[in-house]
Amino acid sequence: MSMIKTPAEIALMRAAGRVVASTLAKVRDAAAVGVSLKELDTVAAASIAEAGATPAFLNYKPRWASVPFPGVICTSVNDAVVHGIPNDYRLKDSDLLSVDCGAFLDGWCGDAAISFIVGTPDPADQELIDATDAALARGIDAARIGNKMGDLGYAIGGAARRGGYGLLADHGGHGIGKTMHAEPDVPNDGRPGRGIKLTEGLVIAIEPMLILGGNDDYFHDDDEWTLRSANGRRAAHSEHTVAVTADGPVILTLP
Ligand code: MG
Ligand code: MG
Repeated sequence: MSMIKTPAEIALMRAAGRVVASTLAKVRDAAAVGVSLKELDTVAAASIAEAGATPAFLNYKPRWASVPFPGVICTSVNDAVVHGIPNDYRLKDSDLLSVDCGAFLDGWCGDAAISFIVGTPDPADQELIDATDAALARGIDAARIGNKMGDLGYAIGGAARRGGYGLLADHGGHGIGKTMHAEPDVPNDGRPGRGIKLTEGLVIAIEPMLILGGNDDYFHDDDEWTLRSANGRRAAHSEHTVAVTADGPVILTLP
């Protein structure tokens, strides 16, 4: 499968991305104190089905996973960085929730994630989320023809490090198209001028994951999916699917 998409294929991916964006918006609206993660998963399932799309995460089983992912969305609360399973946990005031959503429409995949506070925000948590969104914006801005992947990674990682945040440097984004995870890897850290050249028609998911406290370490829960910060501090995750075009980066996962 070629990493390079035609404008017509990118238009189809934009349609898939729109389903993901509207689903994330509905989940965000539904997220409130007392609501369970499982209930949010039901909201996402209904949204994706209503659009005639298919969830990308449900029963997803990459080579490294011993059990398939049991949810439609990933719901990662507080010290959970990514890949949290939508279970019976009920959201509490001031929880930091990251929601990751992927969907296929007409054979093409969209993948995006948002982080937000439920109820009353702790200012440090809001700053973490803002820093994660800013790192994503810098990564997207670097997704330009002629730049290299190292420039993109540096844009993300440099911003995170300067802010004093930990970073999941060995987890990152990915090429995306007819499959959710494809070539190339899109690292969250890098050295300017290194890596593959970004060319017209490349479509990638860019997804910084930042942790409070400046430590990069993490571990997996017994559920084998949920990835938690080793220092127990909160983490945030933001993601968009982005096309590299002659007109600059185009975000495919906007409403
Ligand atoms: Mg994702
Ligand atoms: Mg992704």
